[in-house]
Amino acid sequence: MVWTAALLVIVISYVNSEDYCYGEPHCDPYAWGDMFPSCHPLLEEHHSPINLDHQMTRNESLRSLHLEGFDVIQPGHWALKNDGHSVVLQVGGGMSVSGGGLPDVYHTIQLHFHWGGPATNGSEHTVDRRRYPMEMHIVNMKSIHPNLTEALGDPTGLAVLGFFIDVVYADHVHFGLVSQKLSSVAYKGQTTKIEPFPLMNLLPKHNMSQYYRYYGSLTTPPCSQAVVWTLYEVPIYISWSQLAQFTSQIFSTEEDAEQVTPLQNNFRHIHPTFSRIVSVSKDAKLLTGTASWPLRSAVSLHLLQIILLGSFLSGL
Ligand SMILES: [Zn+2]
Repeated sequence: MVWTAALLVIVISYVNSEDYCYGEPHCDPYAWGDMFPSCHPLLEEHHSPINLDHQMTRNESLRSLHLEGFDVIQPGHWALKNDGHSVVLQVGGGMSVSGGGLPDVYHTIQLHFHWGGPATNGSEHTVDRRRYPMEMHIVNMKSIHPNLTEALGDPTGLAVLGFFIDVVYADHVHFGLVSQKLSSVAYKGQTTKIEPFPLMNLLPKHNMSQYYRYYGSLTTPPCSQAVVWTLYEVPIYISWSQLAQFTSQIFSTEEDAEQVTPLQNNFRHIHPTFSRIVSVSKDAKLLTGTASWPLRSAVSLHLLQIILLGSFLSGL
C-alpha cells in the first residue's frame, strides 16, 4: 500500500513535470522537444517565430482581411484566464476572419499575449532582430474543422493575426479593459469575466492593410506546422504602466504554491526561415529597413574620413 502510494506520488509529479515552461532549463523552449517531439524542428521544417528582414516579396494581391464581427459588441461574456503560460481572452463565437489571401473562413477563438520582463522585451517575432515589448496573437480556426486537434493536422488549419505592442506615455483606453483585469488572474488557473467590446478597438485600425504573411507553426507545444501567419506592420501602443501590469503582476504558479514564480519572457526562440517566402501586403511600408541605417551611415562616414585623410596625406 505504501509502495502504491509512493508510486502514485511519483506518477503524479511526473505528469506535472510534463508541463512546459519558459524559465527553467528542464522545461524551457529548447527542451520542449523532449516532451513534444514536433517541437524539435528538423532541417527545412517551418517553425515560428521568425525574424522579419529585407528578404520579403511584395504580393500586390494581399489586401485587408475581412474581420467579421470585430467592430460590434458580441453578446454574452468573455473569459480572461491565466493558463500558466500566458493570459488568454476567450472571445466565444460570432467573429471570423477571411480574405487577404487566406484559403478559407476562420472562426476567432481566443487572443493571448507574449511579454518580457521589467527590463527586457518579449515579442515572439523580431523585426531586423529588434524585439518589441509585447506581441498579441488572435487565434482563428478554419471553419471546416470540428475541433483543434483536426485543425492542427492541416497545414493551414489556423490563421493567427499577430500584433506587435510598443510603449508610449499615454494609456490605451481600450487595452485598459484587459490590463485592468489582470490582478484578478494573477495566478495560474484563475479566471475572470470581461464584458465584450469591439475587438477592433484594440487594433491599429487605420493600418490594417499593412502586413506580412508566411506559413509557420504554433509557438507553443505541440508546435504544429499548421499556421498561416499574418503579422501587422504598425504596432498597438500602450503605456509603460499597462506593460508593467503584465511583466510584474502575472505568475506561472498557482496561488497556494510554496514558491511563486513570475510569468516573464514567455516567448519562443527565433527559427530559420529556410526556403520560405515571407510576403508583404500591397500597402505595407516596409518599416523594417530603418534599424540598419544608422550603422550604414556610420560606416560610410568612416570611409569618407579615410578618403579625406588619404587625399590630405597625398597633398602633403
Ligand atoms: Zn502566441
